[in-house]
Amino acid sequence: MNYKEKLSKEIEIFYQNENLNNGMDLIPFTTKDIDEAEARLIRFAPYLKKVFPELSSSEGIIESSIVECKNLANTLGTKQPLYMKLDSHLPISGSVKARGGIYEILKFAEKIAIENKYLSLTDDYCVMATPKFKELFSKYRVSVGSTGNLGLSIGIISSKLGFEVSVHMSSDAKQWKKDLLREKGVKVIEYPNDYEEAVAQGRKLAEKDSMCHFVDDENSLDLFMGYSVAGKRLFEQFKAMGIGINKDNPLNVYIPCGVGGAPGGITFGIKSYFGENAKVYFIEPTKAPCMVLGLATKLHNRISVKDIGLSGLTVADGLAVGRSSALVSPMMENILDGCFTVRDEKLNVYMKDLYKAEGIFIEPSAAASLHCPNQIEKLNAQKGIHLLWATGGSMVPEKEKELYLQEL
Ligand SMILES: *Cc1c(COP(=O)(O)O)cnc(C)c1O
Repeated sequence: MNYKEKLSKEIEIFYQNENLNNGMDLIPFTTKDIDEAEARLIRFAPYLKKVFPELSSSEGIIESSIVECKNLANTLGTKQPLYMKLDSHLPISGSVKARGGIYEILKFAEKIAIENKYLSLTDDYCVMATPKFKELFSKYRVSVGSTGNLGLSIGIISSKLGFEVSVHMSSDAKQWKKDLLREKGVKVIEYPNDYEEAVAQGRKLAEKDSMCHFVDDENSLDLFMGYSVAGKRLFEQFKAMGIGINKDNPLNVYIPCGVGGAPGGITFGIKSYFGENAKVYFIEPTKAPCMVLGLATKLHNRISVKDIGLSGLTVADGLAVGRSSALVSPMMENILDGCFTVRDEKLNVYMKDLYKAEGIFIEPSAAASLHCPNQIEKLNAQKGIHLLWATGGSMVPEKEKELYLQEL
């Protein structure tokens, strides 16, 4: 059976990318672009610190910690050291989307402020919290299509700055995410169909409106660059922890993948800083494996999981995407090491395993990464350390958590 047939039968697979030798040379961006994105985040740090009290201890920098998971390694039967990157606990919006999503809106706000001569690059960006700026931004609109977490990020930062913001939510999006956004004054528009339609409708409405910025999850370079900063920060974090990543102790990273924007940007960042000493793998639900389908067939965003008879509906709501990003998929063909798929029924088990072992709660989408370390060890007795990218969970309300963790 070829990959496409296996995917259509919802069989769990590992896809090893054979085009890797093309490598970073074919990626049209460099560390200079990552530095530029990071510099923008640093310019905004004083503003972010001022308006989000939870950022006061980090001086306005949105970053997460890395923790070692010895108990979880035991549970999973993993022999190599196991770590977790806690983007599930990123400040402001509690998911990996606090990287790209917030970055894109900050960049948009900066552009408007500079064009209107309200701001120069060397100013203290705290001025953005003043009524004058809010009034300026209130003339502009922001719109986005989302399965949930991107909407949360964009909604929270946009309304804080003063933009009028609409989030087009797919049917997968959880009720509590819609409620939370509405509480914050965000306009939530619901679609009975899937994420692709939510994005398409949002894009269509935004096209008719010259004052509207549409955050295009399927094509956005700003999102990609915001995510890529993670690679640089990760490099610095391992250095500060005294953990040497090299040929004899490589880093194996596992990231849950939906449309591909977040894991793609992070992969570019990681490969830019760690080079061949890091291997990056994506993990997708067997019910919505859009990235591996696009890579294995080389059709990228020109094929949907629906074309092979899959619904695209999964308990991993953040990964319920039928078609991969047109921007990211072709890049991943050159730099991604491989992809795994995992069956839905395992995700709740992994989520509970982590909670039992380490007391860390993440959402089922994020728990997908727990599937990989063991598989990789079986496949090629790989050396080095494993890093699970926990992509979301800390914003999940207590009541919802209890439901998830029932029968523990
Ligand atoms: C969005 C999301 C992802 C994947 O990001 P994409 O850019 O959609 O590939 C993974 N996990 C969670 C929890 C998410 O919200």
